[in-house]
Amino acid sequence: MSLPTSSSTALPGSPFVAYQNGQLMIEQVALRDLAGQHGTPLFVYSQAAILAALAAYQRGLAGRKSLICYAMKANSSLAILKLLADAGCGFDIVSGGELERALAVGADPARIIFSGVGKTRQEMRQALQTGVGCFNVESLPELDVLDAVARECGKVAPISIRVNPNVDAKTHPYISTGLKGNKFGIAHEDALAAYQRAAALPGLKVVGIDCHIGSQITEEAPYLEAMERILDLVTSIEKTGIPIHHIDFGGGLGINYNGDTPPAADALWARLLARLDARGFGDRTVMIEPGRSLVGNAGICITEVQYLKPGEQKNFCIVDAAMNDLPRPALYEAFHQIVPLQPRDAAATTYDVVGPVCESGDWLGRDRPLGVQPGDLLAVLSAGAYSMSMSSNYNTRPRAAEVMVNGAEARVIRARERVQDLWQLESA
Ligand SMILES: *Cc1c(COP(=O)(O)O)cnc(C)c1O
Repeated sequence: MSLPTSSSTALPGSPFVAYQNGQLMIEQVALRDLAGQHGTPLFVYSQAAILAALAAYQRGLAGRKSLICYAMKANSSLAILKLLADAGCGFDIVSGGELERALAVGADPARIIFSGVGKTRQEMRQALQTGVGCFNVESLPELDVLDAVARECGKVAPISIRVNPNVDAKTHPYISTGLKGNKFGIAHEDALAAYQRAAALPGLKVVGIDCHIGSQITEEAPYLEAMERILDLVTSIEKTGIPIHHIDFGGGLGINYNGDTPPAADALWARLLARLDARGFGDRTVMIEPGRSLVGNAGICITEVQYLKPGEQKNFCIVDAAMNDLPRPALYEAFHQIVPLQPRDAAATTYDVVGPVCESGDWLGRDRPLGVQPGDLLAVLSAGAYSMSMSSNYNTRPRAAEVMVNGAEARVIRARERVQDLWQLESA
């Protein structure tokens, strides 16, 4: 581990991002140096932070039959996938493209689970040929299509049904997925019938049960509630003679963006597993699908202040990163801490930190007190999840470069896009 020294000031989010002698560091590397070498906007990740986040889950599940499947939509950079595969992770995928990414880093197909409400026949064939460990099926029509595709391929598809337990994850409506009225999963009350249907289809083999109730969950209660409901269902499904080998509790654990206090992964799982044991299901393989909580706090985005634009109602701090790089504020009004790489001894002014994109939704932070000048560098914190993986080329903006830091070393894991890359597939 390469934590900054004890004289440093840690910021909310990750102990691996901290000030040392007035300089923002990630592990042992000064972020200012990376910006100088690679330009801005620039995503930088701490390898130690990712591995520490994974280790918390591994401690929580130690001594169990278990599989941690990283939900790679949070950040599907090959370097991050390789790091996590080498550390023992499987993957939760939601597209054929993500399947190819997992295979590109040498992932074991048996440790890949395929989620998503809209799997195409082509994606099903691809996953069957590859031999993925489980399809998490989200509707009755999908059961039928998967059965047909599997029989055409001469395969039997291992399946779980994603059950919607109707639990309120108490998170943003756009990232809440376990309530009635969400497009995800099969309603709790319809799940038993769906399992009986699945068990009767020759192209399918029931292997488990799955749920995922939402994202950025900061309380333990919704997990416990979902677990109780899923275990009730397992009892009734098994009474009909259908064995459930693994129970997949999904992902969704929140991170600290702005003083949020989600339970630690190891403590959360100690309590959930105690409940699992108490109900007599301790012998089942436990699967989880964490995304954000493995990578979110491990990443930051460096951006340069371009202009300060005072106004009657608002002052704007215009930076060179934008909603195409960091879409979460525009999409969910999400909060990211924004801090200077080298704080100045200057009075702070309250700014809206905005990008150059031609949309009023292009903001990164609102009403932020900052003492900055044009040319200063800022870090947008907790930008490891759902940032680069959701980025776009809107306004013909090439995507940022990405750097992985390990101790005192830094390496580029994705080169900055060039403008000519953006129209490579076009013709005039
Ligand atoms: C997005 C997603 C996850 C991961 O959610 P996080 O909040 O990033 O942990 C897990 N499972 C499924 C099915 C998902 O869609």
